[in-house]
Amino acid sequence: MRFASLGSGSKGNATLVEAGNTRVLIDCGFSCLETEKRLARLALHPGELTAILVTHEHSDHISGVARVSRRYGIPVWMTAGTEAVHKGGRLAAWHCFNAHQCFEIGDLQIRPFPVPHDAREPCQFVFSDGARFLGLLTDTGSLTPHLLKALAGLDGLILECNHDPDLLADGPYPAPLKERVGGPFGHLSNQQAADLLGKIGTARLQHLVAAHLSEENNRPHLARESLSAVLGCRPSEILVADQPAGMPWKVLA
Ligand SMILES: [Zn+2]
Ligand SMILES: [Zn+2]
Repeated sequence: MRFASLGSGSKGNATLVEAGNTRVLIDCGFSCLETEKRLARLALHPGELTAILVTHEHSDHISGVARVSRRYGIPVWMTAGTEAVHKGGRLAAWHCFNAHQCFEIGDLQIRPFPVPHDAREPCQFVFSDGARFLGLLTDTGSLTPHLLKALAGLDGLILECNHDPDLLADGPYPAPLKERVGGPFGHLSNQQAADLLGKIGTARLQHLVAAHLSEENNRPHLARESLSAVLGCRPSEILVADQPAGMPWKVLA
């Protein structure tokens, strides 16, 4: 199994997970053209995607979904709550999944779990090829016992480090937005992400990726320092998926 990021942050998100002949794009917060360009960097054509999986309806995750789906005939998987409010238009095909039930797309096993975030029916995922487990957790305002249980014993993890609380407090956002971002249905801070790492068991972890960093309210070195302190590794060993470049393929061996 391998995975990559097309880009991550408040201006657009898309993650790729591949197992065997199955290639799933999780979210598509970029225009169709931008998605094509970013896939090309990873030596992929949109027509090679098996499915698009959507976490929630915020525009940084969904803005390109309908266009890419229609243009390349790619089926989209999302919860009924997300489908009810997505405004992207017609899809090539829609499959509804239950956020409490595992399902399969080709060679990928997918375990969704609901998260506290201010969307209609948001969820995040654990992916497996039967041998390795990759967790994805962004757009989450607080840690719940359920999500901590879902993320136990992973081989790889893409983890939101949205903001540093001091930078958020001193930054340019208006007060209501600061409250939303830092609130229980907003986004994880570096400290909350570190707290999660200390609770899920990281003995098998091969790759840890800090993601969905705010360009205004965070710095890559702050996220790396917070996470590496928990793992007892060098900050440079923590990967960062950023907004312009995302992250190249990483293999879970
Ligand atoms: Zn987001
Ligand atoms: Zn969101």
